[in-house]
Amino acid sequence: MQIGIDLDGTVTDPKSCFLYMNDSLGYAIDYQQATEYELHTYTNMSQHDFWKFMVEHGHEEAIYRSSLPHTEVNDVLWNMRQHHHLHYVTARSEAVRSVTEEWIQRHALPLDSLVMTGSHDKVGVVKDLSLDLFMEDRYENAVSIHEETSIPVLLFDAPYNRKPLPEGVRRISSWKEAHHHVNQLEQSLFFNRR
Ligand SMILES: [Mg+2]
Repeated sequence: MQIGIDLDGTVTDPKSCFLYMNDSLGYAIDYQQATEYELHTYTNMSQHDFWKFMVEHGHEEAIYRSSLPHTEVNDVLWNMRQHHHLHYVTARSEAVRSVTEEWIQRHALPLDSLVMTGSHDKVGVVKDLSLDLFMEDRYENAVSIHEETSIPVLLFDAPYNRKPLPEGVRRISSWKEAHHHVNQLEQSLFFNRR
């Protein structure tokens, strides 16, 4: 299968960005109560001003560099890579490609394909790469990818994405669970082809 995988909050631990906001920028966000995905909503800045501040002060690269990998992601991705093509599809921009690739290599994760969309719209990439499955943590992406391409989506559970899901988007809480669903989907595709 061709599998699309988001980076932030999916390959990285979803707590990472909030830890950075607290430890390096002096905020006091309670991750378990963090119901908003967009980081600027925890500040008094607009989205534009927040990211301008983050880029200009080196915080954007620092937040990516200091991110922690999600639990079990390393073992599961190497295992899945034996049978599937893995494509990282991130909303990060090309400007941070090198810090992103360095992070992937430093954490010894597989790196075959990295698409940087620079926006939250990933539907075009899903179609261009003919992906069979997508893994996400952003609620709106998960729903729109499924609705516009009809491929199954696995949504990694986080406090900021706990909203009702359409059939076809499944909430999961671990990479082990993701692996189980990949195997199941592979089996059902195999039997449908026979
Ligand atoms: Mg994400």
